[in-house]
Amino acid sequence: MRAGPSQEEIRRFNLGALLRYVHSRGPTSRAELTARLGLNRSTIGALTADLVAAGLVREEVPRGHGRAGRPSLVVRPEPGMYVFAFTIDADRVTAARVGLGGVVLDRREVARPRGELPPVEVVAPLADFVRSMQAAIPPTARYVGSGAAVSAMVRREDGMVRLAPYVGWVDEPLGEALGKVLGTDHPVTIRNGADLRVLAEHTRGAAVGCDNVIYLHGDAGIGGGIIAGGRPVTGHGGYGGEVGHMVVNPNGKPCGCGARGCWETEVGEQALLRAAGRDGYGREQVTAVVEAAARGDAAAKAALRDVADWLGFGVANLVNVFNPEMVIFGGGLREVYLAAAAQVRSRLNRNGLPACREHVRLRTPVLGDDAALIGAAEAAFEALLADPLDAAAPAVAPT
Ligand SMILES: [Zn+2]
Repeated sequence: MRAGPSQEEIRRFNLGALLRYVHSRGPTSRAELTARLGLNRSTIGALTADLVAAGLVREEVPRGHGRAGRPSLVVRPEPGMYVFAFTIDADRVTAARVGLGGVVLDRREVARPRGELPPVEVVAPLADFVRSMQAAIPPTARYVGSGAAVSAMVRREDGMVRLAPYVGWVDEPLGEALGKVLGTDHPVTIRNGADLRVLAEHTRGAAVGCDNVIYLHGDAGIGGGIIAGGRPVTGHGGYGGEVGHMVVNPNGKPCGCGARGCWETEVGEQALLRAAGRDGYGREQVTAVVEAAARGDAAAKAALRDVADWLGFGVANLVNVFNPEMVIFGGGLREVYLAAAAQVRSRLNRNGLPACREHVRLRTPVLGDDAALIGAAEAAFEALLADPLDAAAPAVAPT
């Protein structure tokens, strides 16, 4: 029979808990850490000293403190520890340097044409961005790793994109392509964009303190990120949460995945534009429909009502299955939800089971369109937060 955890294991666990706390909540006094982490003052002092020695946090006298009495020192994450975060969206690619504590220190972004492009052509601009950002990195800063968000089904081990209907990728080696252009043997953690968006909102956005939350992101398709019982729901292979491909209308329209009547064929941007009798694609077109509806355009109003109703059907299904505290609408779905919240809520109320839906809050992202970027950074920091001293050894930065 295995004995309980050793003193060393407990210490490492507590180091991770302390670092994670100040990383996600920001500078925190020793007194508050003592209360929040349920540890005594001398333990907090010893853990903090270890993290200071590893260059992961610094301690400061709180601002505005007078001369009287001894202040409780504030523990602050060291932003010199940084990651690169990347997002590959239907319309743009973004790269950022993000410091411990979730501070975006630098960022670059470029629009990309919709449609099919090999991964190498999508990731080449990311490598250029990294090179241009590196010029401004102070010599004392330390690289931790990289994370990338992509609207796709991604194999965890190697970042192979199994399916990304809207860029036409089937079994495309995105992880390998990124590794090649970044010129580093330090692996990039690649994850589904909606999974990272919900992680970001849970860590430092709308869903802080909510352990059961669903994030719905609309761009070319619909992505879903689910946290249940405080843990990400990603399934056996990491491909779970594909809520856009819940079949809601077996006689409906063909979907990019090859099936018919998927939820995203009823609530995606194409569904909204088609119902409003409009061509084109993209967030601007979705916003144009919302603005036309606000001006009284009958076709736009009817389209929004129809899409919001279908949105409510799917949300009711998800609420019945997961009983979340919160559902967050991001991307183009944010616009649809804000314009037709009553319709969504009314359909949820008619189709959701009362016990499942009675406490659910419907929200929009606090981090806005940055949620995926922040989530990609969180993924890159994950190993460091799990075991700070082990992962704090300097990594080789991309060259
Ligand atoms: Zn589908």
